[in-house]
Amino acid sequence: MLKIMTPGPTQVSERVRMARSLECTNPDLDPAFFDFYKETCQCISSLLHTKNETLILDGEGILGLEACCASLTEPGDPVLVIDNGVYGKGFADFVQMYGGNPTLYTTDYLNPVNPDKLDEFLCENHHFKYATLVHCDTPSGMLNDVSVLCPILKKYGILTVVDSVSGMFGNELSVDDCQIDLLCGGSQKALSAPPGLTFVVISDEAKEAIHKRKTPVASFYANLAVFDGYYESKWFPYTMPISDIYGLRAALEELKEDTDRIPRHHRIASAVRTALVNAGLSLHLESGFSDTVTVFDIPEGITADDILMTMKEDCNILLAGSFDSLSGKVIRIGHMGTNANIADVEAVLKGLDYTFEKLGISLKASLLESFQAQVKTE
Ligand SMILES: *Cc1c(COP(=O)(O)O)cnc(C)c1O
Repeated sequence: MLKIMTPGPTQVSERVRMARSLECTNPDLDPAFFDFYKETCQCISSLLHTKNETLILDGEGILGLEACCASLTEPGDPVLVIDNGVYGKGFADFVQMYGGNPTLYTTDYLNPVNPDKLDEFLCENHHFKYATLVHCDTPSGMLNDVSVLCPILKKYGILTVVDSVSGMFGNELSVDDCQIDLLCGGSQKALSAPPGLTFVVISDEAKEAIHKRKTPVASFYANLAVFDGYYESKWFPYTMPISDIYGLRAALEELKEDTDRIPRHHRIASAVRTALVNAGLSLHLESGFSDTVTVFDIPEGITADDILMTMKEDCNILLAGSFDSLSGKVIRIGHMGTNANIADVEAVLKGLDYTFEKLGISLKASLLESFQAQVKTE
């Protein structure tokens, strides 16, 4: 079987797959399902260290990002789009689509957003209704320190919208400490359920901003306010994908039981980086490395496809290239969620040792051996 070591979708455990095949009730009419949905939402909030309400939406991660922008943006609203990666920049499209006026704050794509420089910029320009930023920008593996950046934005009265689809549950994240007003997550990254669900964690301040709008939200499916009072009135705006939510709940239970999860992601990510550097390969970023995905540059003389094909055909392991401006330039190893275990990462590095040798690239040290030596001492 092909081992999926991509930065999402990740491998799905048997427990999650089995939960998805449980018998179904009518999620619109059975009151027990309203409790199940609400408890699942509360479970997400609690894992993210907040009492803010979570809503699970029936759509892939992108729906969450769009729903935040659709629900907050009124025509002409000024929005700050913090951009040091593909997803960071991409928020401008959603803002524009709903009539907002995005200002791109673009910084160097190889390092995290610098908090002091952002503060300096905001000191002169802070008339924004909200700002968007990405916790882990997956195409490059860039981790922004939202625990410092969001409080700076809040200091200027700016609401914060954070995409942590591929950061949360692999890197520590506390919604309350970070002061995140709208946080987006997805099922298929470190949570390791199959793709298909997104969820949004909403602060009271964000709810108030949505309710104070003067113009209606230009969407139904992406309007977060359509969930208002769903539990009290036992009425969902649309039929909930019950089997997907059963799977999500099982994934959350697994995650709750796994108390070594965050330290293990860190040990593995850090040992993978050491192994790549010892082997003479170059990490794509200069700093800001996430613990969920590692990205390295393609050595001269071979292509991303050469590496990906050999890994897949000869080693039965699926890694990822990247896209947009990074297309063909890097390889991404997804060591998040179910993928964040030593045996699977060893298989990847053993496969890469073989692949580079086959493609005529001589490494300075074995990736597998460096990883094994390092992961013990982390
Ligand atoms: C995966 C991901 C999403 C969800 O969108 P995809 O369609 O799966 O790409 C959103 N944001 C980030 C940062 C992601 O990694």
